[in-house]
Amino acid sequence: MSRYPESVDVAIVGSGPAGATYARILSERAPGATVALFEVGPTITDPPGAHVKNIADPSERARAQTRSEGPHARASEDRTGGIVKTTQRRARPGTFLLESGYQVEGEDGLPVAAMSSNVGGMAAHWTGACPRPNDSERIAVLDADATFDELLAEGERLLGVTTDAFDSSPYAGLVRERLSAAEDAGRTATTRVQRMPLAVHRRGDGNLVWSGSDVVFGDVTRGNAQFTLYDESLVTRVLVEDGRAAGVAVADRRTGETSEIRARFVVVAADALRTPQLLWASGVRPEALGRYLNDQAQIVFAVRIRDLEPAEGEDKAGATGLSEYSGVTWVPFTDDMPFHGQVMQLDASPVKLADDDPAAPGSIVGLGLFCAKDLQASDRVEFSDEEVDGYGMPAMTVHYRLTPLDEAVIARGKEEIVRLGKAVGEPLDDRPFMMPLGASLHYQGTTRLGAVDDGTSVCSVESEVWGVAGLFVAGNGVIPTATACNPTLTGVALAVNGARTIAARLAE
Ligand SMILES: Cc1cc2nc3c(=O)[nH]c(=O)nc-3n(C[C@H](O)[C@H](O)[C@H](O)COP(=O)(O)OP(=O)(O)OC[C@H]3O[C@@H](n4cnc5c(N)ncnc54)[C@H](O)[C@@H]3O)c2cc1C
Repeated sequence: MSRYPESVDVAIVGSGPAGATYARILSERAPGATVALFEVGPTITDPPGAHVKNIADPSERARAQTRSEGPHARASEDRTGGIVKTTQRRARPGTFLLESGYQVEGEDGLPVAAMSSNVGGMAAHWTGACPRPNDSERIAVLDADATFDELLAEGERLLGVTTDAFDSSPYAGLVRERLSAAEDAGRTATTRVQRMPLAVHRRGDGNLVWSGSDVVFGDVTRGNAQFTLYDESLVTRVLVEDGRAAGVAVADRRTGETSEIRARFVVVAADALRTPQLLWASGVRPEALGRYLNDQAQIVFAVRIRDLEPAEGEDKAGATGLSEYSGVTWVPFTDDMPFHGQVMQLDASPVKLADDDPAAPGSIVGLGLFCAKDLQASDRVEFSDEEVDGYGMPAMTVHYRLTPLDEAVIARGKEEIVRLGKAVGEPLDDRPFMMPLGASLHYQGTTRLGAVDDGTSVCSVESEVWGVAGLFVAGNGVIPTATACNPTLTGVALAVNGARTIAARLAE
């Protein structure tokens, strides 16, 4: 007997924060609707979708990470602890790299393009930075009537975003003050150097709890008897009949059986690479599908904080392995300074640049500047009709080039990061380092929204795919602008808009 229902009102593909947003909003606004969420990866936490950093036991945490690493999950001994300063292709714990097709000869490619396959998606492994977009990062069509800010605020609610979790960190204020002195002239209250909004909160016992999809689902989804999450379930096809979404075809990874589930609405929230893959596999192939792919080139630099009074007492790193000395500081993107800056203590940083100083723990901070891409339709992920990937889905080939403008922005970013770093402390290296492309894990644009169906977008402002009524796409792929800031909050905000649209249609 198949474990799946014959039909539901809404089928959601993917349990990262975008898919979880649909489940949450539908549970709140359409509690009578039957909703099934299909996730190809296993459940690795209790509650489902929680962040692995909340797992106290290191070996249990490592096992949860390994189980997230796709169809050929590696042995945990093979774990690398991050992308290091080499050209080697390495995946971050909890993620797995695109096996092939990541770089075509003569192009830059995305050599470390990566994904996660587990309940909770990448948000079981993320850093939780949730800045709002600024200036040209914003989506004009949603800004016209202040809708965008309302959606972003709703996204912050769903992700449990706070700004005070690191207020007791001994060096956070100092780092912020020094960056402010170097950078704030001419900036507005919104774009001044400030605490990074983070999807994290402090428990009563003082420990940090990082938000994953569990927080997005919330009790309302977990308590919704009409909602079911099916893990280890690969959606191989969206069924389309008479120009309408009609359901999904699902392969049960536990039994190998395949089933068809009828649905009035289908939401594909399968990340910015696999959402267009599933549409392609379903014969839904709008001109812009997979195009305008953009990643944020990431420049990193490390400094030892100058003139530091060593902090008293023990670091709270404890169970989660996270040191909390300097918090996370945000240097917002502006059109004049077109970088998203993230400054944080090294063991929370995406790249380990140097060992911390045992004499003054917490004194080394990593600076990261993320660059917005010069958008090109030719930057794209293509899918094969013959070759398949590790899940048996259409194999991907990434076509991706940095333009002269991208090169100029990156060159300027390298100068700016040294200036900012020197404001905080003494550099550990002569020069900043650019991570291999794809390292940001912030792929966007491949199912972008647009105001009209003119071949440059895949879906409407409400995320409904042009020409296929009832089929919605979700996640960072829907973002049409070139953002430099971490995109998850924006992706979730757009998912809120789509989910409300479905809830309203269900009520008609
Ligand atoms: C180490 C790390 C640090 C990060 N830090 C930040 C940060 O600070 N701020 C930020 O904004 N972002 C950060 N990110 C990125 C962030 O996690 C993603 O932007 C976010 O998770 C995207 O949400 P999503 O729901 O669109 O996709 P995902 O979270 O990737 O979820 C997609 C899910 O779909 C499933 N799926 C795919 N195909 C199928 C299929 N055919 N059938 C069924 N299921 C399928 C996948 O298994 C996956 O679980 C980070 C990521 C990592 C790994």
